[in-house]
Amino acid sequence: MNTNNTNERARLEAMIVASDSLYDRIDEGRFGVGGYTVAELRSIVGTATPQAAPTAPAATPGDMSGTLESAARRRFLLAGNAYFTIRSVRTGKRFTFRVRAARGADDHRHFVGLLTGSDNDGDYTYLGTIFDDGARYSHGRNSSIDRGAPGAVAFAWLWNHLDSDGVEFIHSGRCGRCGRRLTVPESVAAGLGPECAGRV
Ligand SMILES: [Zn+2]
Repeated sequence: MNTNNTNERARLEAMIVASDSLYDRIDEGRFGVGGYTVAELRSIVGTATPQAAPTAPAATPGDMSGTLESAARRRFLLAGNAYFTIRSVRTGKRFTFRVRAARGADDHRHFVGLLTGSDNDGDYTYLGTIFDDGARYSHGRNSSIDRGAPGAVAFAWLWNHLDSDGVEFIHSGRCGRCGRRLTVPESVAAGLGPECAGRV
């Protein structure tokens, strides 16, 4: 393990410690998109070492979440299939969003969903649309969520303050473009797998 990897591992371990205190405040020990537990996070961090590579059972979410620095957020958010949670540093309030690119090659919209149910993979309610590959965001006229609702206000605020250190921006441990599980520190730091990082 070279120096860079050692540093990265130390950073990840610090992240896990931080997660511990995070979990202390969360009902059911669930958080974000992965629905992982602290124990699962710890086992996953083990995969960062060459010698330890535990394989999680298929039914057990074991995604390695990451906190995105401000410079990496916009790229991740617009990667095509981004799931993430933002958390206010000041209030601790959190919201989880999904931002998906429209399918057509000539369709330059992204659709924003707000997690409104208990199923972290499925219970997203349409919130609004990002137009022209990220030029502007507009609350959806057809959204069942009022534009004044907390989650709607949170995303509108985020869109205009992506660089803010007033929120933590936490991805689920899945590539923001293809959804594959991220396994190496560089990918976790970007929220994108090595192949997809070259395509967004
Ligand atoms: Zn990918």
